[in-house]
Amino acid sequence: MYDYLIVGSGLFGSVFAYEATKRGYKVLVVEKDGFTGGHIHTKEVEGILVHEFGAHIFHTSNREVWDYVNQFAEFNRYTNSPIANYKGELYNLPFNMNTFNAMWGTVTPAEAKAKIEEQRSSIQGIPQNLEEQAISLVGLDIYEKLIKGYTEKQWGRECRDLPAFIIKRLPVRFTYDNNYFNDRYQGIPIGGYNVIIDALLKGIEVRLNTDYLKEKASLDTQAKKVIYTGTIDSYFDYRFGRLEYRSLRFEHELLDMENYQGVAVMNYTDRETPYTRIIEHKHFDYGTQPKTVITREYSVEWQAGDEPYYPVNDETNQALYHRYKDLADQEQSVLFGGRLAEYKYYDMDKVIYSALQAVKKEFK
Ligand code: FAD
Ligand code: UDP
Repeated sequence: MYDYLIVGSGLFGSVFAYEATKRGYKVLVVEKDGFTGGHIHTKEVEGILVHEFGAHIFHTSNREVWDYVNQFAEFNRYTNSPIANYKGELYNLPFNMNTFNAMWGTVTPAEAKAKIEEQRSSIQGIPQNLEEQAISLVGLDIYEKLIKGYTEKQWGRECRDLPAFIIKRLPVRFTYDNNYFNDRYQGIPIGGYNVIIDALLKGIEVRLNTDYLKEKASLDTQAKKVIYTGTIDSYFDYRFGRLEYRSLRFEHELLDMENYQGVAVMNYTDRETPYTRIIEHKHFDYGTQPKTVITREYSVEWQAGDEPYYPVNDETNQALYHRYKDLADQEQSVLFGGRLAEYKYYDMDKVIYSALQAVKKEFK
């Protein structure tokens, strides 16, 4: 008899498994895929660590979480500084003094602010949608070259029909600082994210290629408690209907050249290029291999059965999630956690924090 049956070997499940084992409990992890780590899994190709499910950059301002992950891996000094490519014109992201200089030739913050002021005069009052919000933050030129096409490709909708808040999470800075994130700590684990997952799951029994929902009846009899990190609607057999996601398609390619684009992330911000960005994986690790692996990332409409990436945070889906959450709260011996079971866009640091909170509550 196991004390805990953990469904899913992503960050949430692995942190919980490690902490329970450390406290002397007997744990079994089941994972439907043939590998551990969920979305942070990396695959080695020609000595290059490929982020198979999208570029993952660790960043946090939470000291407890930063200290926690540093027990399991050493982090390199990678700082995310993507480049926006608009029809061959290159701009630094996030929007900062370098971007303004390349766009308008402005040199001082006062000059850049005056330019934006002039370009946003069409927006009166509180911005009502993403288009108005973007123009109000950075002016018309940046909206048209760096935001409009990218956002419409990514979300499959017009900027005028998208909520203003989406664009607010991008920093706008009047300093010459190309760091995409504002967080205090940032980096990529040396050796890849698998190093962290392997350390968390060391010595723990893991059954790969095992879908809990297909073997629920027999698995449930083997453990006192279940930690479930899969999709919440599938757990309840979609009885109220399916939660929706925004999906992605990744096209990986191995190229016989040392350096394809000179940067880890290049966003293609025009409407015509069909992909949103190209990732060149070796630059996350300062790789010097003779070959390189790139990934074109396409945004696609999600259909039932596709891999779930980003939850759709609209009112309909949130209301549906809450109906499932009410059912989940009634399950005495099942704890629901992680991005799929909580239907939440969670960065890695937030998932770790959430797992550590669940651990504190469980073992108080
Ligand atoms: P998952 O990693 O999804 O783990 C859930 C696991 O459960 C999976 O392994 C799954 O196979 C398994 N499972 C599901 N159902 C079953 C079942 N029935 N039986 C058995 N196993 C099951 N975060 C950052 O901090 N920085 C970034 O740069 C970043 N980039 C991202 C880019 C993309 C494209 C996406 C989609 C996410 C990104 N994230 C990033 C977020 C990050 O991926 C998540 O925070 C993290 O992976 C979530 O961990 P989790 O354990 O909750 O979920
Ligand atoms: N965005 C943009 N141009 C870019 C990068 C981002 O217009 O070159 C906008 C886009 O609307 C996106 C939002 O900013 O949805 C947030 O960007 P972020 O990189 O945080 O999005 P993610 O890829 O993580 O969803």
